[in-house]
Amino acid sequence: MKKKIKKIQIFRLIIQLILFVLSPGLFILAFSGFKSIYQMIIKGDFNFLQAFPSLVEFTTVIIITIVLGRFFCGWVCAFGTYNDLLHLLSKNVFKINFKVNEKVDAVLKYAKYVVLLLLVVLVWSMGSKVLETTSPWDAFAQITNFPQVLSDYTIGFILLALITIGAFFIERFFCRYLCPLGAVFNIFSRIGILKIKKPTDKCGKCRLCTNNCSMALSLYKVESIRGGDCINCLKCIEACPRNNTQLNVFGENVNPELASSVAIVAMVGLYNLNNLGAEALAQSKLTKQTSTSVSASINNTPQKYEDITTSDASNASTSTTDSSKESSTNNANESASSTTINQSNYTNGTYTGAGTGFKGGTTEIAVTVKDNKITNVETVSNQDTPKFYSRVEREIVSEIISAQSATVDTISGATYSSEGIISAVKDALSQAKK
Ligand code: SF4
Ligand code: SF4
Repeated sequence: MKKKIKKIQIFRLIIQLILFVLSPGLFILAFSGFKSIYQMIIKGDFNFLQAFPSLVEFTTVIIITIVLGRFFCGWVCAFGTYNDLLHLLSKNVFKINFKVNEKVDAVLKYAKYVVLLLLVVLVWSMGSKVLETTSPWDAFAQITNFPQVLSDYTIGFILLALITIGAFFIERFFCRYLCPLGAVFNIFSRIGILKIKKPTDKCGKCRLCTNNCSMALSLYKVESIRGGDCINCLKCIEACPRNNTQLNVFGENVNPELASSVAIVAMVGLYNLNNLGAEALAQSKLTKQTSTSVSASINNTPQKYEDITTSDASNASTSTTDSSKESSTNNANESASSTTINQSNYTNGTYTGAGTGFKGGTTEIAVTVKDNKITNVETVSNQDTPKFYSRVEREIVSEIISAQSATVDTISGATYSSEGIISAVKDALSQAKK
């Protein structure tokens, strides 16, 4: 029998590879979006403006998942693509054809909810720092920084190695059993409008759809699948020799190429649109903070010590020049970092500092200090991936200006880029010290 050319799978692989190369950080950003929002909620300081960039990733992926299902997982996520590439290699080169027993597979699929719950509890009780060296996603995102990644993400790298072995034998190993994001998507996608329809009365006994399903769903048992563990890879549609398996919206069969194209364009388009909005909001926030700082300095408005130490994003940059208050601030914060500008005397001016960023590249940052306030933080040069860097820069710079300190958290999955900026700001501030 002539082998059927799987056009959709070729199309999917091309899209996956393009996104893998152009947006490898998309899955990390989606994850860090979830994480940042969760952190703000547990700290009790949820602020819409502050949270907006994180909400961008969160809402884009969730909206598409609710409406169209898990196209993010099947077509976009770089970690999913990594799992697929390993499976292609094991199946076609090493001819491995390992299948997990159906009942065992069904039980193992609950493990991802346990992982999700564990992460929620761990971050709740120990803070997000616990994920910094243990996340296999982060280790994967930094893999080009080998062998440095081995010492920086030891646990994460060990987990990544285990996942790689698993994915070699079991298709979408991580997605099926372990991904906490997949657990979240599983829940949201169940209310979507798109489903895989497969009337059982027209079925033969071949079970080709089931045998080809990336997520090992028992398609032979059901009439349709709406979301859940289905990642919209559409392999079942191409596998059916009777064209019995179809993509269906509101009772109408739809062209799978068209539906997937719409989902990908919507996802990438909405993501970029949201990013532009986030960029504009972050910019206006920085401008507002800068002008608040400068005007407070000009007016030389006296402020209470409590105002400084309990400052939030909107008042952190408010200045005081009262030396007695400065000294009480210093005493009260002896253990705090010397790069918290409220506690030190700095000479007005713009200083350029250097730090080591992604892949050992140099990040140069210009920091403007006016009346003991950080009024501007700007990148002079960097050697990071441009799109990835701009997102990291936006968040870190906003944090530094809000906190008036270079002692801020790094961004999950972008530790090197974050550290490059942070160390460059520290270097610049050390030059500004009187
Ligand atoms: S289940 Fe997780 S790792 Fe797999 S594709 Fe979805 S988000 Fe990516
Ligand atoms: S049901 Fe079909 S579209 Fe969904 S994961 Fe399985 S093969 Fe892919």
